[in-house]
Amino acid sequence: CGIFAYLNYQVPRTRKEIFETLVKGLQRLEYRGYDSAGIAVDGPNKTTTDINGNTICLIKKTGKVKALDEELYKKDTLDLDEKLNTHFGLAHTRWATHGEPSALNSHPHRSDKDNEFVVIHNGIITNYKELKKYLINKGYEFESETDTEVIPKLIKYVYDNRENDSITFSTLVERVIQQLEGAFALVFKSRHYPGEAVSTRRGSPLLIGVRSEHELSTEHIPVQYNKKNSHNRPDCSNAINSVGNGKAVEYYFASDASAIIEHTNKVLYLEDDDVAVVTKGELSIHRVNRQAGEDPVRAIQTLQ
Ligand code: GLU
Repeated sequence: CGIFAYLNYQVPRTRKEIFETLVKGLQRLEYRGYDSAGIAVDGPNKTTTDINGNTICLIKKTGKVKALDEELYKKDTLDLDEKLNTHFGLAHTRWATHGEPSALNSHPHRSDKDNEFVVIHNGIITNYKELKKYLINKGYEFESETDTEVIPKLIKYVYDNRENDSITFSTLVERVIQQLEGAFALVFKSRHYPGEAVSTRRGSPLLIGVRSEHELSTEHIPVQYNKKNSHNRPDCSNAINSVGNGKAVEYYFASDASAIIEHTNKVLYLEDDDVAVVTKGELSIHRVNRQAGEDPVRAIQTLQ
């Protein structure tokens, strides 16, 4: 029911500060109602296979955000004082629609036991049964009763069947959402793309706050349109106004402005089927195909 995610690029933050930011974001969304909460951060877990040293740690709990907050500090494997120069963390409060409230059914959901891809979701995937059946047939194993879990499994399926290793995180997400029906706001994190964030929405709200030392007041982001089925070849690649420009910057992703306003008043609202990606601190926005009359730019707005 509530999404909050935080990316710091070249802005050193301790793990403790990151936890505090994530938990505070969730607390601002508590009024929306929820039954469980969870987070995903970079950090050690029981995983056995190593992908370039990147590991993702999931911590989930039923009940209050306060219970999750206490849980974060119980993990003796997590170094709270470790400084993370660039990091992307996810946080979620769940209002169960499919599957009872439980730690297993709460978000983030994951692609596999190694947490290669993790995702937080607001909304309902109406065609999840068909997708789940298809993925089970392909050998993917499910652990929850949620509609959401098809999403991380599907992105792993697309990744496992990629045509080459240069495939981008946003291309994977573009392909995933073409298969989804229903309503969603989604934020993805992956061990394969450390420090990168991808978010998208259809029907459920999602906005991105930007905090930066440099001027952002008039920033417009041109949307890059990919021709359907052409693999990651943007129609318009002149994203000169992309936000961040490789400089120190922080991004806040949320389902509601109330979780962002204390950090920044510069926000950008995603439109249906927009895929927003932060790579090396730069925010850009992609769409699979352009509809007639559609605005090819997204503007940063100032919240009052
Ligand atoms: N349908 C999803 C679930 O039941 C997401 C619910 C939500 O928006 O919190 O887990």
